[in-house]
Amino acid sequence: MQIGNIFSGISSLGIGSRVVLWTLGCLKHCPGCISPEYQFFDKEKERSVEDIIEELKEYKFDGVTISGGEPFLWSKELKELVKLIKKNFTDDILIYSGYTIEELYAKNDKDINYILKNIAVLVDGPFVQSQLDNVLLRGSKNQRILVMNPKYLKPYQEYLKQEKVVNLVKQGRAMYVIGVPIEGMQDAMMSLMEESDYE
Ligand code: SF4
Repeated sequence: MQIGNIFSGISSLGIGSRVVLWTLGCLKHCPGCISPEYQFFDKEKERSVEDIIEELKEYKFDGVTISGGEPFLWSKELKELVKLIKKNFTDDILIYSGYTIEELYAKNDKDINYILKNIAVLVDGPFVQSQLDNVLLRGSKNQRILVMNPKYLKPYQEYLKQEKVVNLVKQGRAMYVIGVPIEGMQDAMMSLMEESDYE
């Protein structure tokens, strides 16, 4: 599967300290998408699931968040990844999708069904710029934070009472804003970066 980035120590995309992976490729092209750099496929960024698991062994974390791009475009590999994350690390796996859960179930795909049955949370639906929202984990009001594992219902209800946060991560000369930005933040960051010498 193609992976755009992996960061550890992230607190803005789920409970505790998390590893966040971004898959590459998305067919939606929502206006105002907060991660346009992950919308396109790139064969150079191909990685095996086993290789990703080996990298995860280098980190200490409470949960894993998988965003994109559209993770479900990689459903076969994603199923293996979910299976191995559960086996080796944690079942607190949160996945973002631009598809609604109804659209995912309608695909009647055994890998997708396995994923939905085995993750803690699905944040579903595309980003809709005209419906901006300030709730943690989601960018627009149409998106739903669906707790798929009852064990995580209370912990995520508590987590969602907090104010929206983002993490700033510097990688080389690039600065990444990790999390779902509050309204206006994306523009402010772009201006800040244009004024500085960040790429
Ligand atoms: S579904 Fe998500 S990644 Fe795809 S274009 Fe929309 S906001 Fe961007």
